[in-house]
Amino acid sequence: MEGAAYSLNHVEGCTHGCLYPCYAYLMKKRFGKFKDYKDWREPRVVENSLELLEKELGKLKGRIESVYMCFATDLFMYKQKEIIGLSLEIIKRLNKEGIKVVTISKGIYSSGLTDKKIFGADNEYGSTVVSLSEEFRKKYEPFSASVNDRIKSLKKLHDAGLKTWVIMEPYPTPNIIKQDISEILEKISFIDEVFFGRMNYSKLVTDYKGYKSFYNYNVLKVMDFCGKKGIKCHIKTGTLDKNQLNLDYLNYPPAFKKIADKLSA
Ligand code: SF4
Repeated sequence: MEGAAYSLNHVEGCTHGCLYPCYAYLMKKRFGKFKDYKDWREPRVVENSLELLEKELGKLKGRIESVYMCFATDLFMYKQKEIIGLSLEIIKRLNKEGIKVVTISKGIYSSGLTDKKIFGADNEYGSTVVSLSEEFRKKYEPFSASVNDRIKSLKKLHDAGLKTWVIMEPYPTPNIIKQDISEILEKISFIDEVFFGRMNYSKLVTDYKGYKSFYNYNVLKVMDFCGKKGIKCHIKTGTLDKNQLNLDYLNYPPAFKKIADKLSA
């Protein structure tokens, strides 16, 4: 994630087995940590995570404002009790030290996180939502929680006064799935922050004629929606193509032209 100074990965591998493909899996396989996809889906807990965390906290005392969990695995791995339990212990420990935790998951958040006597009230909890289609989810995120259940668990945290966010990345092109991003945005409109990014590492995307215009138009849609709803919006580097923005400019509705002007300035 752009802007994350510290991150923590207490598990290697991930049962969710996303098939976009998963960048963490590609890297770990490349460097020989995992043999294949099956191996990746049999995660290994770093047994002494809490011990290692104590050492790091001792070394970096007072220097860590927030910790991002996780870049290379999923801390609320669906139906993985041991991993979820350890994740909660880690969050608790970091919060006790006054360190905020920012999370992202395709699992279900524990309702215990709403207990502000145990967990920090300024933690930020996120889910990945790139489609509302269960068919798409089963094909690309086959072993994760259903998107509906993810959104519901995020909404519970929001309703308890906690900060929530959604990462819409890797967002697919229409040759992968035909959908209207507005419907997804409406469904998650309670969140505080959104992060939108294109799909990478898939030939299907570059095979889609007009993919640059497609991503630009969706950037404008996301920014327009967020502006109206007061949602903080981040666009992942490489998603917007400014040259294409200028070429498509005349086709945009007036509200989008205003945003395009700001982006081109
Ligand atoms: S949930 Fe994240 S870490 Fe796990 S397989 Fe999917 S993309 Fe990779």
